[in-house]
Amino acid sequence: MKRSRPTSVRGLAAQAKPRRGKHHPHTSEWEWREVFEHTPVMYFMIDAVGTVLNVNALGAAQLGYSVTDLIGRSVLTTFLQEDREFVRNRFADCVRTVDRSHTWEVRKVRKNGSVLWVRENARGVRGGDRVLILIACEDITERKQTENALKQNEAYLARAQELSRTGSFGWNAATNEVIWSRETYQIYQFDPTEKPTRERNYQRIHPEDRAFTRKTIELASRSGKDLSFEHRLLMPDGSVKYARVLARASRSASGLEYVGAVMDITAAKEAEQKLRESEQRFRDYVETASDWYWVWESDRDHRLTRMMDHPNAVGLASSSVIGHPRWEFASDIESEPEKWQQHRATLDAHLPFRDFVYRVINRTGASIYVRASGKPIFDASGNFVGYRGVESDISVAYRADQAERDLRKAQLELAHVMRLTTLGELTASIAHEINQPLTAVTTNADACIRWLCREPPELDEARRSVKRIIDDSNRASEVIQRIRALAKKTDIEKVPLDINDLVKEVVALVQRELVSHAVSVRMEEAPALTRTLGDRVQLQQVMINLIMNGIEAMESVVDRSRELVIRSCKDDGGQLIVTVADCGTGISPEVAEHLFDPFFTTKSGGLGMGLSICRSIVEAHGGRISARRNDGVGTTFQVALPVA
Ligand code: ADP
Repeated sequence: MKRSRPTSVRGLAAQAKPRRGKHHPHTSEWEWREVFEHTPVMYFMIDAVGTVLNVNALGAAQLGYSVTDLIGRSVLTTFLQEDREFVRNRFADCVRTVDRSHTWEVRKVRKNGSVLWVRENARGVRGGDRVLILIACEDITERKQTENALKQNEAYLARAQELSRTGSFGWNAATNEVIWSRETYQIYQFDPTEKPTRERNYQRIHPEDRAFTRKTIELASRSGKDLSFEHRLLMPDGSVKYARVLARASRSASGLEYVGAVMDITAAKEAEQKLRESEQRFRDYVETASDWYWVWESDRDHRLTRMMDHPNAVGLASSSVIGHPRWEFASDIESEPEKWQQHRATLDAHLPFRDFVYRVINRTGASIYVRASGKPIFDASGNFVGYRGVESDISVAYRADQAERDLRKAQLELAHVMRLTTLGELTASIAHEINQPLTAVTTNADACIRWLCREPPELDEARRSVKRIIDDSNRASEVIQRIRALAKKTDIEKVPLDINDLVKEVVALVQRELVSHAVSVRMEEAPALTRTLGDRVQLQQVMINLIMNGIEAMESVVDRSRELVIRSCKDDGGQLIVTVADCGTGISPEVAEHLFDPFFTTKSGGLGMGLSICRSIVEAHGGRISARRNDGVGTTFQVALPVA
């Protein structure tokens, strides 16, 4: 590279002087030199391709070089590699348009590699037959850094506004000048290239909210007050948005100014609306429900702190209830201490409870039954703070339940009476059943004595006789046991039962009745039937009733053999079925309608309770009883029972 030291500063200044510019009369070479060397500006004089012809000491020093380092070297080496093309083009501009100033901002690199931002002001000047370029460059690194930081801040702010759906705005009330941030444009769905005005803003406000918004803003701006209000926006697509506006008023030289934020609160509003609706729905339920709610909180002693004012709760919601634990106003504490002890234990353990029924005396002095359910409540840190729950007056249901229990008891007693009646009717059969083995016992005892009296005694025969005596006695005792069971008044006891065994026992019991009425029994039992869960005596009673009715229905039959067919099977639904079919008189449709009604009978000496009792027994076992006319003659009764 050709190293040529410029002639002199004076020469440089002369060369730098615009050819057509006015030359100041007082500018001396010394002054030029002072300016050149001491202003905090880097001066370069380069040729058209960028070779440094001269540089001031400050300029060189700022880049970490000495003047001699730089002279003769391409000034392009003091720029970042990626900016050199740009700079070369700018130099070309200067050469093309001599005497015109060109300005650009670019990065320069120091000798140590660090980068600084400069603003370069350059001009091409004619120096003899060639064009030189004079460049003054000013370090703007600090400004650039601030500018970049600002830009970044702005970007952050814009992002934050976007994320929070919050736009910002400025409004000068005096000049009516308006500024909107990008997000504000976004919220109002305005074209960002259009100028913001208050009128445009109003156009977007929902027509129903416009007058109110205008008035609010006017009132505030007249008294210089801050702004805070919500309004709806009617969007171009017809949808409605909700916006909240907050602005701070401040007085400046140019008058009252507002700086504020506009938030798109549509999502929050919609959520709030949904919450309100669901709360209202819940309230409606609670108010129309027959239950009322109660609360006890912040109280370790189980005292009720609140109770809903509910029409059904009238009997309770008085001063005698609030501030008291339940056991202080319940009227069944003494009669049911264990129930209350258990309830207190549940509460002390902070466990939920459901359907706790207790009795209270209401205002009118009547006993009412209340059913309460509740769950413990805990605060955010898991500490127990009380209970919350509902209660309802179940007196009617409770009394109905009680009545049903009483009815069931009465039915049980009636069933017992009926069994005794049946046993009375069966006396002859029973006597025969017992008499038979007893006669056999006597006969065998006589025989035994005879065998023993032989000389020598026939011990083997005697032993056989005794064996028969034992068997017959057992038979008699079994009959007695069965009868005693039927006669005994016991509580219902459900056990797994084999239906076939049960039928056989009953047939044995009524054997004599069958014989005396010339009725034969045919049993068609399904083998290995699943068991049912039931009360033996009660189900026996059902079977006795059905068999006795069948016998009676065949009493008048003389033209055919009187046969009773008892079948057991399992139906498609998995139920156990027992049918008792006779070939008797059959049932007329009128009779069929009332068969199971209590006290319905067609017999002169009948009570009409048999089938009614059968039905209540079967239904208490979860089963069903029905009757149908046979295709030919007679009737079939069917009992269906669930399997165990
Ligand atoms: P009771 O036997 O005392 O009349 P039930 O309730 O056992 O009472 O029977 C009611 C009525 O149902 C009988 O009077 C009779 O008319 C009719 N009935 C019951 N079983 C049969 C049957 N197997 N065949 C025809 N009618 C019957």
